[in-house]
Amino acid sequence: MLVKSAELVKMVHNIDHLPEPMNGEIAFAGRSNVGKSSLLNRLMTKKEARVSSKPGKTRSINYYLINKKYYYVDLPGYGFASVSKTEKEKWENLMEGYFTGREELQMVFVLIDHRHPPQKMDHMMVSWLKDLRVPFTIVLTKMDKLKKNERMKMFNTIKSELSYYGNYTYFQTSSEKGEGINELNKYISMIIGN
Ligand code: GDP
Repeated sequence: MLVKSAELVKMVHNIDHLPEPMNGEIAFAGRSNVGKSSLLNRLMTKKEARVSSKPGKTRSINYYLINKKYYYVDLPGYGFASVSKTEKEKWENLMEGYFTGREELQMVFVLIDHRHPPQKMDHMMVSWLKDLRVPFTIVLTKMDKLKKNERMKMFNTIKSELSYYGNYTYFQTSSEKGEGINELNKYISMIIGN
């Protein structure tokens, strides 16, 4: 996707307040600190909208309008150790409402840190999306932090662990170095039909 404009148009805290659908919608999910904001900033090359992972923006579903036509949706991060039970329930209700009710949603990118085997919350998300029959793709982040041979080994470990749920498409990316970003952009264009 060639991003010509990107604009944060809505922050949704209540599932009844989702915006009117546009011509395409893809969403990004991941544990907090996985590199979701960095990846979104990389994808929105024009950077009219700087994505921030600061608290406040991280508890809502943030809608970015791309090229005045499509939505990139930044879903609230998960896996905060210090989050209260009420906060967790709020997060769960918001996410479940979105995944089950948003018919326009074309793809969820589940971001997983390339350096480690999938964590409990990564497994939870994959298994949840699978059960809800929401289409998703795995995006591994921070690949620059691994040496080539470690990368290969960890990639196989991750794929093998997640193969328990099914066969999925994987992207290896680095927002720092830009690796994998073109490939991901092409894939997004294909999904959105642009
Ligand atoms: P978020 O909480 O998922 O939005 O994560 P951020 O995008 O804020 O990233 C968390 C930390 O990881 C920050 O310090 C980023 O600079 C760093 N980071 C994100 N992506 C990469 C990457 O591709 N490579 C490296 N080396 N660091 C990254």
